[in-house]
Amino acid sequence: MYDILIVGGGTAGLTAAIYARRAGKTVLALEGTAFGGQIASSPLVENYPALPAVSGLDYTNALLGQAKALGAKVKFGRVTAAEQTGEGFKLTAGKREYEGKALILATGASHRRLGLPNEEALTGRGVSYCATCDGAFFKDKDTAVVGGGDSALQSAIFLSNICRRVTLIHRRDTFRAQDAYVKAVGERENVELALNSQVTALHGESALTGVSVTGRDGSVRELAVAGLFVEVGQIPDNGPFAALAELDEGGYFRAGEDCLTRTPGVFAAGDCRSKTLRQLTTAAADGSVAATAACAWLDGTAQEK
Ligand code: NAP
Repeated sequence: MYDILIVGGGTAGLTAAIYARRAGKTVLALEGTAFGGQIASSPLVENYPALPAVSGLDYTNALLGQAKALGAKVKFGRVTAAEQTGEGFKLTAGKREYEGKALILATGASHRRLGLPNEEALTGRGVSYCATCDGAFFKDKDTAVVGGGDSALQSAIFLSNICRRVTLIHRRDTFRAQDAYVKAVGERENVELALNSQVTALHGESALTGVSVTGRDGSVRELAVAGLFVEVGQIPDNGPFAALAELDEGGYFRAGEDCLTRTPGVFAAGDCRSKTLRQLTTAAADGSVAATAACAWLDGTAQEK
C-alpha cells in the first residue's frame, strides 16, 4: 500500500512524485509507454524557465533521475482499470495490481490520428508521429508534416536539417504555433507550405510513396513523399478512470487549477486535465499542486472547497 499512486510518468506525474517524496510520502508512478511523455521525443525545448535550450530526452532523464533519487518508485505498466477500495484505490496494469491511499491521474494525451483508411497499415512504413524518433530514416528524402501547432512546426524545422524537402500541410492559413517557430519555418529554404490544405489519401502498399493533398477550393494534388509526419494534436485516453473522475466533452478530466476531481483523494494533473494551456510549465505546476493536495488530504489538513 503506497501513500500515493501516480498514473503517468510525464512532467506532471514525475513532478508530483518529487513533491510527494519531499513531503515524506511513499510513491509509485506507473508509465504505460515511455517516461517523460510527449516531451521525451521533442528535439528542443526552449521555453522552460532557466533551461534556455534542452533536448526533450535530456530534460526527461533529468526529471526521472530527480524523482528516483528522491526515492520515488517508478515502473512500466499500462493501467487499464482503477477502482476505489475501502482503504483507498486499486490500479490494474496487466496482471499486476497496485494499491494506494491517494491517486494522482497524470495520464497526458496521445497522438491524434488523421483517420485515413490505410494510416495504421503504413505507420512505421512512412507514416510517423515522431520526427525526432524517425526523421533520420528520411535523410535526403522528401517528406511532409501535417499540422499547424508547435509540434508540427518543430518537426518541420527538425526535418529540414535532414530531408531534401519538407512540405508543411496545414488546414488553415494561420498557425497556432509560437511566432518563433513560424518565423524559423519561413527562413528554411527547403520547407514549403501547403496551406488551406488537408491530406486526404495515403498512397503505397508496403511503404508510403505519396499523399493526396486537397485544397479548400477542392483541388487535389499528389505529393510524392517517403515520409509523412502527423502532428495534429493530442487526444486523452482517460476512459479507465471515468468512474472516479468526471470527463469533459473532449475526454479530459474535469478538474480546476486545484486539480481536485469529484472523488476525494483523486487528483488530475497535466495535459489530461481540462485546461487552456498545455505546456511543460503548466504540467509541472499541476504536478506540484496535485501532490501537495494529495499530501494534505492524506494528512487530514486539506481545506474544504
Ligand atoms: P495543437 O497545438 O493542438 O495543434 C494541432 C494542430 O493540428 C492544429 O494546427 C490543428 O489545426 C491541426 N489539426 C487538428 N486536427 C487535425 C486534422 N484532423 N487534420 C488536420 N489538421 C488537424 O497540438 P500540438 O502541436 O501537438 O501541441 C500540443 C500542446 O503541446 C500545445 O499546447 C503546444 O503548445 C505544446 N507544445 C509545446 C512545445 C514547445 O516547444 N513548447 C512543443 C510541442 C508542443 P487548427 O490550428 O486549424 O486547429
